[in-house]
Amino acid sequence: MTGYKENQLIHIDPIEAFQDNYIWLIHNDQNSIIVDPGDAEPVINALERKNLNLVAIFITHHHADHIGGVMALQEKYPHIKIFAPQKDKYEFVNISLKNGDEINIPALQINYKIIEIPGHTRGHIAYYDKKNLFCGDTLFACGCGKIFDGTHEQMYNSLKKISALPKDTKIYCAHEYTKKNITFALSLDPDDTNLQLRKALVSNMKNTIPSSLEEELKTNPFLKCTSLEAFKRLRDLKDQY
Ligand SMILES: [Zn+2]
Repeated sequence: MTGYKENQLIHIDPIEAFQDNYIWLIHNDQNSIIVDPGDAEPVINALERKNLNLVAIFITHHHADHIGGVMALQEKYPHIKIFAPQKDKYEFVNISLKNGDEINIPALQINYKIIEIPGHTRGHIAYYDKKNLFCGDTLFACGCGKIFDGTHEQMYNSLKKISALPKDTKIYCAHEYTKKNITFALSLDPDDTNLQLRKALVSNMKNTIPSSLEEELKTNPFLKCTSLEAFKRLRDLKDQY
């Protein structure tokens, strides 16, 4: 069964890396999972500061700013399990995952379901525990990822797939792009009151993630596209913005 075992306290903390990356640290009072460690050093610092044991790494896709720290972490913590998309090739040993797979992390008593969400890359996956979605560079707060080795059609369908999850799902994306994304969305629709409210809400926030699917459905222009053509046009406009 996907989800948390009740009566256990799980924390999800951001570890900041590079310019605007978030490496997510999921933990209880002893054990932890790391999502997309682009860099090992800030991860090791956080684990040592919080006195946590690392049991697993989750990879959403193959870009360097999501996997750059894996080899060093594997060396330092040789017993960890590394999960990654089946459709990608990695130089580190990993357990490969495809759509519908379920993984169990006994040290945290959590199960995750794997959802394939290609588009940004052709192999991109998300990890979902029925409350929280770790979606890498697919859905951003008020935006979505660029199309690299996937296709517009894949991204459009992946965003539809995410949109169908429960509205209270928390969205843990991998970059802090929210303010720039809201500015772009407002440039298209300056009178949108939901966007104006969201702009005001985040104006004094440094870390705006997680977002919720409900908020994204209200304000994210990429989730409002009702055709692939409209999505392509919007993605092109954002790429040129
Ligand atoms: Zn990426």
